[in-house]
Amino acid sequence: PSWFDQARFIPADAIFALTAQYQANPFPQKVNLGQGTYRDADGKPWVLPSVRQAREALLEQGLQHEYLPILGLKQFRDQTAELVLGSELYKEQENKIATCQSLSGTGALHLAGLLLKAVHTELPKVYIPEPTWSNHYQVFQSLGFKCEPFKYYDPETKSLDIDSYYSMLRTAEPNSVVILHACAHNPTGFDPTKEQWREIAQIMKARQLFPLFDSAYLGFNSGNLDEDAFAIRLFMGEFNMEAGVCVSFAKNMGLYGERVGCFLVATNDEQVTVRTQSMLEMLQRSEVSNPPGFGAKIASEVLGNDALRKQWYQDMVTMSDRIRSMRETLYKGLISFGAPGSWDHLIQQSGMFGFLGLSSDVVVKLRGLLIVAPRSIVDNKADSDIARRETSYLHGGQFSYL
Ligand code: PLP
Repeated sequence: PSWFDQARFIPADAIFALTAQYQANPFPQKVNLGQGTYRDADGKPWVLPSVRQAREALLEQGLQHEYLPILGLKQFRDQTAELVLGSELYKEQENKIATCQSLSGTGALHLAGLLLKAVHTELPKVYIPEPTWSNHYQVFQSLGFKCEPFKYYDPETKSLDIDSYYSMLRTAEPNSVVILHACAHNPTGFDPTKEQWREIAQIMKARQLFPLFDSAYLGFNSGNLDEDAFAIRLFMGEFNMEAGVCVSFAKNMGLYGERVGCFLVATNDEQVTVRTQSMLEMLQRSEVSNPPGFGAKIASEVLGNDALRKQWYQDMVTMSDRIRSMRETLYKGLISFGAPGSWDHLIQQSGMFGFLGLSSDVVVKLRGLLIVAPRSIVDNKADSDIARRETSYLHGGQFSYL
């Protein structure tokens, strides 16, 4: 017998498995429409000029590799909180915000889960928009939370279903957690309008629902970070609500593999914040001891240096403009090739994802035609099963732009 006889076989993560298949495929004109990572016009990963310059500056200053404190680089945590809240709101609320550097956005969500678990004997329910980033369920269910999907997107009209969104909030169990995509909703690209956000905040406040913002695309969505932080600032500022924000610098700084993120919690009491901060320190210590230093130092250099920060704002415009023009090109291409049906939803969406709204069958067929050597997917049962699982997982046609 083995200690691990009880281990179940868990199929590979759908998106990473799809990327591995893509990489293994020799077809010269292949296009990766799966994983959400930005590419330049040559299909290559893009090191942002601001990040490149920050890296050079760090090396010049004499980079060392000592441990960071348990909570991470203090300067980076403060800069992140100020960035997300904006200087004015940050000044007002600084003492009510606990922060902890995290292993990118995923790590921030996990820390949020650990904290919410540690401060409640009865675990709150976690409401998750459907469809969403696939890892939300794993992060919260692995910590023992009961997760419940709610509909915010209508596959028939291929648009935001705001009535369903409101009605879930009006009937949700009080004292539950609601995951909110701060902007550029993964994978549909449909965000509430400013007025709709206001209504959402109003209902959530009245019903004592805790907003947990997943903020993986600040500045990457519109090219304007302040615009993309609207909902977070609305909840924390105008509505003066307690909230959590899981910040990732993976996309907006292109620091995917460096795992640069931060978890912010706004409470309504300075003393509560002091205690919450100490709990985050304890939770982080038992998970990772200290977060990684290199990426946080790069981000801090970018945020703290006026010239680099200006360059970074320009870099975000470069990325978001390119994504928008790819969106337009695809839209026009589909129309000029006479693809049946309406494709208006493609240009109504924003952010990294273009949610085509195709059925799983169509996606499998397209993969067979365009990406995988045509017959392998049709002839090989196992392959086709994997493809079906992946595409249904992707809700029939998520893709990010290259
Ligand atoms: N949340 C959303 C909505 C995402 O799309 C992603 C990445 O794709 C993440 C969180 C986490 O990303 P990371 O852990 O790389 O910061």
